[in-house]
Amino acid sequence: MFDSLKERLEGIFSKLRGKGRLTEEDINDALREVRRALLEADVNYKIAKDLVERIKERCLGQEVLSSITPAQQVYAVVYEELCNLMGGKKERLNFASKPPSVFMLVGLQGSGKTTTAVKLALKISDSHKPMVVACDLRRPAAVKQLKVLAEKAGIPFFGPDEAGSGDVLGVAKKALRYADDHLIDVVIFDTAGRLHIDEDLMAELEQMHKTLNPHEVLLVIDAMTGQEGVNVAQMFKEKAGITGVILTKLDGDARGGAALAVKAATGVPVKLVGVGEHLEDLEEFDAARMAQRILGMGDMEGLLEKIQKSSDTKEIERVQKNLQDNKFTLEDLLVQLRQIQKLGPLDKVMDMLPLPGKVKSQVSDIDFRRIKHVEAVILSMTPEERRRPEIIKGSRKRRIAMGSGTNVQMVNQVLRQYEQMKEIFKRFGKNKGKLRGLKLPK
Ligand code: GDP
Repeated sequence: MFDSLKERLEGIFSKLRGKGRLTEEDINDALREVRRALLEADVNYKIAKDLVERIKERCLGQEVLSSITPAQQVYAVVYEELCNLMGGKKERLNFASKPPSVFMLVGLQGSGKTTTAVKLALKISDSHKPMVVACDLRRPAAVKQLKVLAEKAGIPFFGPDEAGSGDVLGVAKKALRYADDHLIDVVIFDTAGRLHIDEDLMAELEQMHKTLNPHEVLLVIDAMTGQEGVNVAQMFKEKAGITGVILTKLDGDARGGAALAVKAATGVPVKLVGVGEHLEDLEEFDAARMAQRILGMGDMEGLLEKIQKSSDTKEIERVQKNLQDNKFTLEDLLVQLRQIQKLGPLDKVMDMLPLPGKVKSQVSDIDFRRIKHVEAVILSMTPEERRRPEIIKGSRKRRIAMGSGTNVQMVNQVLRQYEQMKEIFKRFGKNKGKLRGLKLPK
């Protein structure tokens, strides 16, 4: 996600850090590059220009120029302004005080609307009893797709078949009645999609709006469409009264333009983001976290949440303590590998870590499919070897290889992986400290 923007900003800041004290010209040069990076990320010209102006104003004030760590200060200002640009605070969904809550999902065809309807239902199903309703009646395939996905997720589905009606408003009304009868407290409507915005579509949405009186009208936008997505949002805002945006496909090579600019351009907040093809891959949008990711600060909070959800906390605490004491052992590596496997695809986990791109690609190369072998190798070591791997030389390697049913190459590979992980966790700890030093926006 946002790889090229992240890389550009990383380069700009490492240049600044290399300079020590900064002159006005240094800051101007750096900010010119920041603006270029934003334009390349497909952020609208005016929004990029205004953002950089705001950053410049603050950076050229005494706050930065007289600071002992000026580069760090510039970084903090950029961070805060990126957060503000994206809306600053977290925007929650607006549920009805008296159920059912009615959500309309609108958007162009291919944006991910149908998938997102089910993702959203699944996401809130811990605390609600949601249902999805197919109202894209011109495309039978869309109705079927919603039904199949809903079944897969175990979410109640309502569509034209059950209603025995072909008209959208008829289906919508029946769906609401059905919801009442079945104690459904959130009804999510998947509305008609088109390849382009047209009068017809807007008229249909307007009628639905009148009939349903929704608590949320959520526009689904494909983040990969960048500025175009922002234009679409502007149109839907004018014509369909959207109350929030869901950006999808942020896991792809989206350049970031839409995520950065949609709030500034339309005043409508991004509420959720789609980060993968699986039905669980929908997250709340958090401007601060997004800014942290863009600036390569990693997403500590997100990662910790993920770890806590998926892991044995006692074990993690023990490893964390070892990390703090700089005593990361091969046994800890084993625990970490098992945890990482549980966290999901490695590239996503890596995305959340505050590491330079180079280190990330090295780690992503580690072949975690061979984890069983890694386990066997580590288990074939003596406790002394696990604590002090530097003593593992030729004959020990051969013995471990034999004992684990692998070969010396495999033993070498495990030792290399261990060194890499140790390095990562060392940096992980350092960056965490750095994060704490930054002022977070209110
Ligand atoms: P619709 O035409 O707007 O209803 O779009 P669909 O729900 O059919 O989605 C279009 C394609 O985008 C499907 O292949 C989805 O699996 C995919 N998709 C939707 N959301 C995401 C996402 O967040 N990440 C990725 N990688 N793919 C997504």
